[in-house]
Amino acid sequence: MDIARRDLIISAAALTLTSGACAAERSDRPLGYAIVGLGSYGLGVIIPQFKNCTHSRLAAIVSGDPAKAKRVAAEHGLPASAIYSYANFDSIRDNPDIDIVYVCLPNALHAEYTIHAAKAGKHVMCEKPMAVSVAECEAMIAACKTANRKLMIGYRCHFEPFNVEAMRLARAGAAGKIRYVRSEHGFTQGDPSKWRLKRALSGGGSLMDMGIYSLQAARYMTGEEPIAVTARESTDRRDPRFAEVEDMIDWTLEFPSGAIAGCQSMYSANQNHILLMGDKGRIELEPATRYEGNQMWTGKDGREQQVTPPPGPAKTQFAGQLDHLAQCVRSGREPIVSGEEGLRDMRIVEAIYRSAREGRTIGLGGTA
Ligand code: NDP
Repeated sequence: MDIARRDLIISAAALTLTSGACAAERSDRPLGYAIVGLGSYGLGVIIPQFKNCTHSRLAAIVSGDPAKAKRVAAEHGLPASAIYSYANFDSIRDNPDIDIVYVCLPNALHAEYTIHAAKAGKHVMCEKPMAVSVAECEAMIAACKTANRKLMIGYRCHFEPFNVEAMRLARAGAAGKIRYVRSEHGFTQGDPSKWRLKRALSGGGSLMDMGIYSLQAARYMTGEEPIAVTARESTDRRDPRFAEVEDMIDWTLEFPSGAIAGCQSMYSANQNHILLMGDKGRIELEPATRYEGNQMWTGKDGREQQVTPPPGPAKTQFAGQLDHLAQCVRSGREPIVSGEEGLRDMRIVEAIYRSAREGRTIGLGGTA
């Protein structure tokens, strides 16, 4: 009699714990992702990564191009019922195969599709930048909280072995007391008609795109939150590519420890670099945040040695990122790069633009 009662209590507790979770979250099968936006990243980079995943699989695709969607579905063995358009996106709610929605759309569409996905009862992976304003980031976090769904930002460097090792070395004091971090990220933009150069879809220029890597690097290499930012923009507005958004932007972050970060992003040169200088040495990555082929050195006074980090737990940084959210959904843990992390960056991004516009230092952390 007692045993039966105990079983009943345990079952009730288990039910309470898993309420709100769909069937897949309770089973052992890999969680199903719906990829929204079949562009160069969603289609070209993310979809091929599911073969490297353990806890994630491709379950559906969302596209505005029916012919492309049909072709991609056929290539990946998805049924017609797994193809969605933007017009019928909300009906993903009725598809129990979809656990997580991965938003790979132009930046200005991130908030809308994240919020709709959460309202449809799905967890969300959202690409960087999280959105195009602090207000949008806050609305996304609120929507996911209300729906009791996880929200993670596609900050893949937190799963990339060179960057993970660089963070570990920095925290372990390998370079001594951190004095300065430099990070520059950029690539050469070509076609002026691309959405990245249209403010309404991008929310801004190089800062919104490659600048996020420089900003993230400053924060994860120092392990600190900046207290002030000073920025300067340099854009040739006669160049048709930069009629609406900035090309180059430099910003300096001041950290509570006294460390300084000098960051830059640009759309007119290829750059991919992180350098940390401490009072005992340096840690340098170049290229630093590429999909593959990153390299790292540590040392001092010209006696740098190349470092090969231990392999990460996942086959690739992308698989690590995809599986991390799936595991967080299963375990109830918060992702290491949650919506709050994206919001922190967007607060700084807004301050960088404001500093460049107003030509003055902007205090962070509530001291505007
Ligand atoms: P693309 O232009 O290559 O693809 C975007 C896709 O979004 C399009 O193919 C289209 O897919 C869909 N889309 C829906 N509405 C529009 C619209 N109005 N204009 C243009 N496209 C639209 O961009 P990326 O794939 O390079 O970038 C997508 C997101 O991923 C961005 O936020 C970017 O910052 C991020 N990104 C992240 C990277 C990383 O390393 N973490 C690397 C590259 C990008 P469809 O035809 O299927 O509707």
